[in-house]
Amino acid sequence: MNERPVIVAGGGLGGLGVALGLANKGKAVLVLEKAPQLGEIGAGIQLGPNAFHSLDHLGVGQGARRQAVYVDKLRFMDAITNEVVADIPVGDRFRERFQNPYAVVHRADLHKEMVNACKSNSRIQLQVNSEVIGYSQDNGLITVNLANGSAVDGELLVGADGLHSAVREKVAGDGTPRVSGHSTFRSVIPVEQFPQAIRWNAATLWMGPSCHLVHYPLSGSKLFNIVITKDNKVKDVVAGKSVSKEEVRSNFSHIHEVPKQLIEIGEDWKMWVLCDRDPIRDWVDGRAVLLGDAAHPTLQYYAQGACMALEDAVALSELIGNNPEDYEEALLKYRDSRLVRTARIQIGSRQLGDNWFHVDGVHSSLRNEIMSGMSDEEYYSHLQWLYGYKASLVS
Ligand SMILES: Cc1cc2nc3c(=O)[nH]c(=O)nc-3n(C[C@H](O)[C@H](O)[C@H](O)COP(=O)(O)OP(=O)(O)OC[C@H]3O[C@@H](n4cnc5c(N)ncnc54)[C@H](O)[C@@H]3O)c2cc1C
Repeated sequence: MNERPVIVAGGGLGGLGVALGLANKGKAVLVLEKAPQLGEIGAGIQLGPNAFHSLDHLGVGQGARRQAVYVDKLRFMDAITNEVVADIPVGDRFRERFQNPYAVVHRADLHKEMVNACKSNSRIQLQVNSEVIGYSQDNGLITVNLANGSAVDGELLVGADGLHSAVREKVAGDGTPRVSGHSTFRSVIPVEQFPQAIRWNAATLWMGPSCHLVHYPLSGSKLFNIVITKDNKVKDVVAGKSVSKEEVRSNFSHIHEVPKQLIEIGEDWKMWVLCDRDPIRDWVDGRAVLLGDAAHPTLQYYAQGACMALEDAVALSELIGNNPEDYEEALLKYRDSRLVRTARIQIGSRQLGDNWFHVDGVHSSLRNEIMSGMSDEEYYSHLQWLYGYKASLVS
């Protein structure tokens, strides 16, 4: 690599996405990943049509499509009464409207497709065991410091280093993320272990007081992903801790026996305490810029955090590619193009969780009445801003 590269801190879906986007624009890219190997946690992820638009633009759409399971519907259930509240079909009519599918995929499969695409691109270098701890800049040169004492010079620095971003600490300096108090428990099990009666080809979400439960098929429908969340007001950050079934069970004693089965069939439960941040404008510091969870970490209630990171990757690489004379201007344009949309996801996700999925009593009856009374077309119109968006049209 002779030219000074764009340095990307973080080899998650956002970091790899922007590496591919920038390489497609002819830039040399160095991805610095803290972990000893590139990988993703063993769980599923939902991808809206807006994510497929981004993946296509980054050149990995076909690979993602090969790994995806195409669900027939988004199904909303009442976790107390065991009733179907609403089904939103995501078949042909949905695809025609949004020009792309809704699908679910194993994170590790999607990440691997992106790693392979990066590896086969001579403009991208992937380097593990490389924790970014800071940077300095002077006259169009940015120097990135690593925990191992080394330093690398680059043309730009993209902080795609996730929720606890070290780059953000210097760009924005706004301290640690907000702890939501919601605990999420995850398990992935073989399809044969999943109860026949609820083995739907759907992304299913059970709504209950202070909780919700999600499940969907994965990996050619050979696996089922289970993600269940309780607002149990915890104060400390936890990420990927193994927990006993008894601990999971104790959070869901109040729900109907049918969704309660999810806890009994789950294995090897892991727990996260969810964090997010308030939206801020400070994404750019000269030639350093934030992307994905580093810029706008969100709760998962819209299932859109990774979709937003992929959109960021498209928008940033387009704007850098189209403004080769003035990168600092390009970074500000990128921030302006992404700020309100990602803030809508951050703020909207909190509201969806607290004021919609997790409500009780008359509030839940009101929710169910509104949701069950909406037609498919009304749902599609309601979701147009989210799924109809094309990050590549940024200017
Ligand atoms: C329970 C749950 C369910 C979710 N479901 C969905 C869903 O269905 N759909 C969806 O779109 N989103 C979902 N999300 C959100 C999604 O997981 C994240 O938004 C997405 O992974 C963010 O990608 P990222 O690349 O910005 O950050 P990350 O995936 O966090 O990647 C950051 C990378 O940077 C590395 N790193 C960290 N610090 C440093 C450093 N200092 N130097 C170098 N490298 C560093 C990390 O090791 C990691 O590889 C969900 C989140 C949760 C918690």
